[in-house]
Amino acid sequence: MTATIATSQTILVIGGGISGMTAALEAAECGRDVVLVERSATLGGRTALLYRYFPKMCHPTCGLEINLRRLKGNPRVRVLTMADLVGIEGRRGAYTATLKLRARYVNENCTACGDCAAAVSTEIPNPYNYGLDQIKAAYLPHAMAYPQRYVLDPSLIGTADADRAQAACKVGAIDLAMQEETVELAVGAVVWATGWKPYDAARIQPYGYGRFPNVITSVEFERLADPGGPTSGRLLRPSDGKEAKNIAFIQCAGSRDENHLRHCSRICCMASLKQTQYVREAHGDAAKSTIYYIDIRAIDRFEDFYQMVQRDSSVSFIKSKVARIAQAANGDPVLHGVDTEGYHRYATPHDLVVLAIGMEPESNGMTLPDDVLADSSGFIEGSADGGMLGAGSAASPLDVNRSVQSATGAALRAIKVIYQTAKEEA
Ligand SMILES: Cc1cc2nc3c(=O)[nH]c(=O)nc-3n(C[C@H](O)[C@H](O)[C@H](O)COP(=O)(O)OP(=O)(O)OC[C@H]3O[C@@H](n4cnc5c(N)ncnc54)[C@H](O)[C@@H]3O)c2cc1C
Repeated sequence: MTATIATSQTILVIGGGISGMTAALEAAECGRDVVLVERSATLGGRTALLYRYFPKMCHPTCGLEINLRRLKGNPRVRVLTMADLVGIEGRRGAYTATLKLRARYVNENCTACGDCAAAVSTEIPNPYNYGLDQIKAAYLPHAMAYPQRYVLDPSLIGTADADRAQAACKVGAIDLAMQEETVELAVGAVVWATGWKPYDAARIQPYGYGRFPNVITSVEFERLADPGGPTSGRLLRPSDGKEAKNIAFIQCAGSRDENHLRHCSRICCMASLKQTQYVREAHGDAAKSTIYYIDIRAIDRFEDFYQMVQRDSSVSFIKSKVARIAQAANGDPVLHGVDTEGYHRYATPHDLVVLAIGMEPESNGMTLPDDVLADSSGFIEGSADGGMLGAGSAASPLDVNRSVQSATGAALRAIKVIYQTAKEEA
């Protein structure tokens, strides 16, 4: 079935992370109609998967909850989740976007009670914990998910488990006949807030990610530290469940490197500095964090945070690009390299290694409309006629605060496009 919604006065925002939510809300609160399109089953993006935010060390609930409240109270924003963008045609002021809405198999009657999940036994890798654990194939993405509605994984459909989920639901929310829908949107401006993805650490061959279980990435470490994560917030290493107290953080893992990502993601140093505080929080004076770095990039107000971590006796800094990682018989990753301040060779074992991997534009690998311009790393600049705009970390590797600023700027420019289109049409 194809349905056509929206008009040339509507702004389309692609991506429902903190940037997309911000762009949509800023435009809607200025009186514009917005369609906010999210590929996954929930808004929130990767921000919702952080344990805490630097520099204030607050939980993601802070920023997201405020935005969700604004969203629920604003009828001008129409949210479409589980939506795949098939294509966009047209020009500034007159675009047609085609979307496919995947079936959730759960309708709006859902009260998020969890009876369907309790009734099924099939499990799938948990995408919201980067596959570090399994979840039931009838699931709520995470505690802050919006909409607060369960999803049935397509692998359940046609199985006895799907029938059990349906039978367990007391409010008639499971709809096993739900079909994919095609939607066409006529919109005047498009904001690309498609965000970022972690660089594939397995491509950094000398670090053994994927071969050595106790070498993990910084995004996975966020989930380990989170009480909603795979270890309920305990820093347990994957190979044997041992408490990881002596942890190495390797900076620029795949960043600022001609063979991988050329750019600096700007976030990684701050993310590792922050994560040393998760180790301190978990183990007190028994904590031992070592940051292996080329140089620490903590810009502007982040310098204070860097200085605070420098004063922490549980954290040490080694200026060195780690050459390779080996694995000891007891599962400890052993870091090899040369300390460039003392020129000592080292071969140092740790309980766990966290690779501070870079941020790659999520749009790398997507087919973008021909007139969308991107920089040499693939971050979206927008279209030359100004009708399509990049926002947040889709446009540049940015922290949450700067993503929100970028998204607000994109919303303003999108409003301008709509305003000018209306004037031209009048
Ligand atoms: C290890 C690590 C730790 C970090 N810690 C912090 C921190 O403590 N403080 C801080 O300020 N920043 C932190 N950051 C940065 C923070 O994660 C980003 O600033 C933030 O995620 C940017 O939000 P965004 O909305 O631009 O992108 P995202 O969070 O990536 O959201 C993009 C959204 O778009 C959706 N999407 C993608 N493609 C499509 C498509 N084709 N159609 C529809 N939807 C699509 C995605 O599913 C996603 O929901 C950290 C980053 C890393 C790597």
